[in-house]
Amino acid sequence: MTKILHRTIGTTLPSAVAGEGVHITDSEGRTYIDGSGGAAVSCLGHNHPEVVDAMKVQMGRIAYAHTSFFTTDVAEELAEQLIALTPSGLDYVYFVSGGSEAVEAALKMARQYFVEIGQPQRRHIVARRQSYHGNTIGALATGGNEWRRAQFKPILPETHHVSPCYAYRDMWPDETTEAYANRLAEELEDQILKLGSDTVMAFVAEPVVGATLGAVGPVADYFKRIRQICDKYGILLILDEVMCGMGRTGTMFAFEQEHIVPDLVTIAKGLGGGFQPIGAVLLSEKIYRAFADGSGLFQHGHTYIGHPIAAAAANKVVEILRRPEIIANVVKMGDRLQAGLDAALGQSPYVGDIRGRGLFRGVEIVADKDTKQPFDAARKIHAKIKKEAMEQGLMCYPMGGTIDGKLGDHVLLAPAFIVEPEQIDMIVDRLAAAIKAAI
Ligand code: PLP
Repeated sequence: MTKILHRTIGTTLPSAVAGEGVHITDSEGRTYIDGSGGAAVSCLGHNHPEVVDAMKVQMGRIAYAHTSFFTTDVAEELAEQLIALTPSGLDYVYFVSGGSEAVEAALKMARQYFVEIGQPQRRHIVARRQSYHGNTIGALATGGNEWRRAQFKPILPETHHVSPCYAYRDMWPDETTEAYANRLAEELEDQILKLGSDTVMAFVAEPVVGATLGAVGPVADYFKRIRQICDKYGILLILDEVMCGMGRTGTMFAFEQEHIVPDLVTIAKGLGGGFQPIGAVLLSEKIYRAFADGSGLFQHGHTYIGHPIAAAAANKVVEILRRPEIIANVVKMGDRLQAGLDAALGQSPYVGDIRGRGLFRGVEIVADKDTKQPFDAARKIHAKIKKEAMEQGLMCYPMGGTIDGKLGDHVLLAPAFIVEPEQIDMIVDRLAAAIKAAI
């Protein structure tokens, strides 16, 4: 009997004993193709020799040095590499150990920024429904996934939510994308005015929504309009790229495709690539300056921030991600994945939408394609798909829907950037078989 409080109690999980490239092998000798990179984490696959070597070298040097006493060359190099990748305006890095921690740190940075510049009345966070920003209290409050929030609501700090940009369900049939983007921007502006524009500190959003919607990107100009509204009222724009960042959507950061520069960006999963737990907040010069010229510190900190082995692993991950052939493969294999899914599932009466960018694709499952009616939540279609996929030797990342009574079940695919054409085809075939068996 396991002594671990697993995510779901009472299910027997296979035990992973080895990983190589896009495959994981369990203790029974079964091999699974990792079609989702776990949860969009393993961007370079498993057991990448260069990353493993970089960690070994660092372990032989020093494993841990508390950041109130020391910095390390690996952490400094990682910061340099990341800043070289960001557009001008995002000039500093704060390291943490994962995605939720990154969101918490970004929220606190936003708050402290306004205290430092003499606007302590700014305290409201506005985010979007059907979003996920992590499971710690502040991050959970910011997210708009009602299922995850429900029982914790009484202890969550107050936050405010507006509509996500979810064209498949929410764009009106006769509406242009421009009109839809404007409608959503006006909704945000109304919310800001309702709260009092000088009391709002930040708007938080995932550029491409991952865990809650399943790879839903914005319509053109949505984020341009959002940036304008934030600028108009002096509100910080925090973009959460924990899942969609680090090359996953075909550019190093998903926000690059929106032609805007946010004030704060959170990254995590693909930064450590699953080799080490690490996350970061990228911040603008103006926020850094406010701290540096003000109190002289960011009033935050965790024991493991800037962990040298995590930094060494991420340093190598980022160095590899910067090789042009890697992101080029994300774009090429992403197109192949979309085309394969369209061909295999586009005609299915239970597949409402197939979407995404790069190697970040989502399949939305519906009971009725014409009305977009989701399956009854009690049928747990997503859980059945996951079980069937594992039987087929495929790891995919399905999530339950019916949030706000309308979101369908969906499956997220996010294979490693080193995936090969035949492996993409295998992912498609196995997912199609799993969906067929589950419904
Ligand atoms: N933000 C986004 C967009 C995420 O997808 C996640 C995790 O799925 C998080 C934050 C939380 O990250 P972590 O699970 O590393 O705490």
